[in-house]
Amino acid sequence: MLRVRTPSASRRVSSVRHRSTVLTGGGRLTAIHAISLGFDTCYVLRDRGVIAIDAGQPKRSAAFARGLDRAAIRTDEVGLLVLTHAHWDHMGSAAAMRALTGAPLAVHRSEAGWVQQANPPLPPGLTAWGRIFMAVHRLALPLIHLAPAPVDIVVDDEPWSLEDYGIPGVVIPTPGHSPGSLSVVLESGEAFVGDLAMNRLPLTLRPSLSIFGDDVHTLKRSWRRVVESGARTIYPAHGRPFPVEALAGRAADRDR
Ligand SMILES: [Zn+2]
Ligand SMILES: [Zn+2]
Repeated sequence: MLRVRTPSASRRVSSVRHRSTVLTGGGRLTAIHAISLGFDTCYVLRDRGVIAIDAGQPKRSAAFARGLDRAAIRTDEVGLLVLTHAHWDHMGSAAAMRALTGAPLAVHRSEAGWVQQANPPLPPGLTAWGRIFMAVHRLALPLIHLAPAPVDIVVDDEPWSLEDYGIPGVVIPTPGHSPGSLSVVLESGEAFVGDLAMNRLPLTLRPSLSIFGDDVHTLKRSWRRVVESGARTIYPAHGRPFPVEALAGRAADRDR
């Protein structure tokens, strides 16, 4: 069962752009709060516990704090910060958000060093537009100051249950956009996939696999893994959520 509450028209806090509540398998309610942290979105999940997924651009911890406040979540209730991957726009405020919440920071083994040394690479473009976009992006990266963050939990390639953090779901490896990309999939079918898929201009016109990445075949394999894990609604880091069917067929066809 899926119940979605859309924000009221009178909502004035732009940092919380989207909120929904889903019934989990056990009949509990998992609240999903979307907090804009610049170019991308941090998703905060609240069930028996609270976790935050992704840490946005640099200098966005105040926006994160405002988003938590709007969602009536205290900073010390956040029990875990998970990075879907450690590109600059996902780890930018990790150190500040970790300090704000006191929560451990979890990153896949192959990208932990990027966070600790604040030196993530940029991924190659996988499409013509992706290559053009990245070429421009590459010029701007030296202007962006990134703060290193300690990594408290190094995630490996085994599925990792979030039950200990009060969240009925699992973290699974979904490489392709980056070597250590992770997705969080709830038992109730919501999948938080980072940059495995995108749904936002100027990146993509519609729900699409990432236009950047290390390897398109790995990317597609990871997408199939997300679908096979029971995902019904995809929450990309860039753009609005979409039903898995919006991409399932086209993703399998794409080969470039
Ligand atoms: Zn990325
Ligand atoms: Zn991104």
